[in-house]
Amino acid sequence: MVSFAFSPEQEDYRVQLRKFAAAELSPHYNERAARAEFCWEAHRQLADLGVLGIGLPEQYGGTGEHDPVTLGMVAEALAYGDVNIASAPVLSGLVASQLAESGQDAVVGHWLPQLIAGDAVAAIAVTEPSGGSDVSGLRAEARRVEGGFRISGEKIAITLATVASVALVYAREPGSQGYQGVSCFAVPLDAPGVTRTHTPGMGAVSLCWGQLAFEDVFVPEDHLVGDYGRGFAGAMEHFDFSRPALGLLCLGAAQASIDEACEWVKQREAFDRPLAAFQGVSFPLAEHATYLEAARWLCYRSLWAREVGEKHTHLAAMSKWWPPVVAKDAIETAIVTFGNLGYSTEMPLQQRYRDVASYLIADGTANIQKRIIATTMLGKLAAQ
Ligand SMILES: Cc1cc2nc3c(=O)[nH]c(=O)nc-3n(C[C@H](O)[C@H](O)[C@H](O)COP(=O)(O)OP(=O)(O)OC[C@H]3O[C@@H](n4cnc5c(N)ncnc54)[C@H](O)[C@@H]3O)c2cc1C
Repeated sequence: MVSFAFSPEQEDYRVQLRKFAAAELSPHYNERAARAEFCWEAHRQLADLGVLGIGLPEQYGGTGEHDPVTLGMVAEALAYGDVNIASAPVLSGLVASQLAESGQDAVVGHWLPQLIAGDAVAAIAVTEPSGGSDVSGLRAEARRVEGGFRISGEKIAITLATVASVALVYAREPGSQGYQGVSCFAVPLDAPGVTRTHTPGMGAVSLCWGQLAFEDVFVPEDHLVGDYGRGFAGAMEHFDFSRPALGLLCLGAAQASIDEACEWVKQREAFDRPLAAFQGVSFPLAEHATYLEAARWLCYRSLWAREVGEKHTHLAAMSKWWPPVVAKDAIETAIVTFGNLGYSTEMPLQQRYRDVASYLIADGTANIQKRIIATTMLGKLAAQ
């Protein structure tokens, strides 16, 4: 018999985080979301709640257990209060995990305790001005020199670009082509030759999005993460985690919006009745509740398959193209249900809409996810 329940420990943790999200994150979400400033205070609260160590090695302060379902559950619960702050566990599972698994001892020992304690954040830098969907076309170069590498190139649209202390940067051996010859490096962002520039965006502003330029930046040999020339293997494997986790993050924000709309339609009256009495109002809410529930279990199924070691790349891609769309549509309906108030910047709805919209693009668009799914169904023919 299949069980769709969290363990008692997971459920207790989920309830604790949901209360934290409602009491601590929700009230000032709008103000935080409008500022291009990383909220260290909330981030350190996440560290105190144990969020930033999930799945990371115990010796550095982590839980030590491979726990993708809990990480996704945490992202969903936190997004109920602040969808931007909720990205922390996703980035932890995407970036810190990659560093922990494939980084070299001195570098891991330097960064991981700081990341788990909430004293530093890490970015992942793949996308370049010439394109992000076709990552095999990246142009940044890493030249071997005595004692290490020199990195040159430009990365664009990078979450935490202006605030991260370190970034996993993907760069290729000069002259290499396609996926071959690309390596991953842990680059301290205060290294000489690194320039950071903030990029204004329609949402996700408090995640300090921006550009990173590398001009002949030296990194020592031990800053190589994973095998030389095989950097993509590590990245792609971790995107199989981040995709369903981001799906859940979007769904958490959407659930908050639908719940708020349900409360509103019970109180607001039109034509001498509560709005809830009109099926034109209640049925869309019922439909979105259904889509959210279906999308949620798709994401958890993907994370569960990861946890037990089943193939899940196709499930991860499904969880990234559909749930963000489902979430965006649900929030849009909540906006309309609130009428003029829904459109007002005093309400969190428009902010959630803009923040969630970032995940229609970040971590790969719907088209790229469908390409992955189609390839698992049809083989290479679907990836021409
Ligand atoms: C808020 C936000 C945060 C981000 N954070 C990061 C980050 O931390 N690190 C990072 O490295 N990147 C990050 N990105 C970048 C993101 O991963 C890329 O924007 C994304 O992969 C798309 O790349 P692109 O913007 O270059 O679009 P392009 O690759 O130019 O694609 C443009 C359009 O063409 C479509 N398209 C392209 N190829 C195909 C195809 N074969 N078939 C069908 N359609 C296709 C795409 O779906 C898209 O709609 C972030 C982006 C956003 C918006």
